[in-house]
Amino acid sequence: MTYTSLQSPINKTYPYQLNVAHLYGNLLNTYGDNGNVLMMKYVGEKLGARMIFDIVSVGDTFDADKYDLVFFGGGQDYEQAIVAKDLPHKRAAIDDFIQKDKVMLAICGGFQLLGQYYVQANGVRIDGIGVMGHYTLNQENNRFIGDIKIHNDEFDETYYGFENHQGRTFLSDDEKPLGQVVYGNGNNREDSTEGVHYKNVFGSYFHGPILSRNANLAYRLVTTALYNKYGRNIQLPSYNDILSLEVAEEYGDIKSKAEFD
Ligand code: GLN
Repeated sequence: MTYTSLQSPINKTYPYQLNVAHLYGNLLNTYGDNGNVLMMKYVGEKLGARMIFDIVSVGDTFDADKYDLVFFGGGQDYEQAIVAKDLPHKRAAIDDFIQKDKVMLAICGGFQLLGQYYVQANGVRIDGIGVMGHYTLNQENNRFIGDIKIHNDEFDETYYGFENHQGRTFLSDDEKPLGQVVYGNGNNREDSTEGVHYKNVFGSYFHGPILSRNANLAYRLVTTALYNKYGRNIQLPSYNDILSLEVAEEYGDIKSKAEFD
């Protein structure tokens, strides 16, 4: 299923093209998660890429070679359980995609289902596809809801979001967090981790949506997908050229950085 309304303008020429799969986009799309797709399109086009988006859902084949970028969003337990039944059919292809260092953003429910298992709010355990090592427990009559800020030491970047999840996720030894919690709950409220970074999979509990609130992360994901496809030697516009607050200020989009801190 192609997002006809989301295609880059037909009459424009672009030096690059990125094919994006929105996994289960008709089922997992809570709290404005679809904004991540819009942000991928915005950043991709600024970088010179024609952006093509498909929803790959229940019963569809996921072609790991066709897609350069995947977005896997979050959802309620009900929709997650439907997705969990279909996912094993796509397991091998998703694993292949990840092992080839291709870029994936997985939010909340999508993040949980890439792991070993997820215990729903009602205590029922559903299997993830186990392409990554983390697992997710439930909690008694509680959810983690609120603003959250994290810092990624490796990239020296700060990310902001809004979390709303009952699952408590624990990472495996081969997984790094997306960041250390500065304020908020994070993966489980115990170990100060938030999200996951494994190969080129970026997982998080951040809604908001994460990429619109964190243009630095959006730039990282889309440029990584372009370098993967076209090689490290391509010359892409810098973050400051296309997304910095100074550029936005110039166009009157926003007032000052202080408002976000
Ligand atoms: N149903 C899951 C949970 O509550 C995921 C929620 C979400 O995607 N926001 O943990």
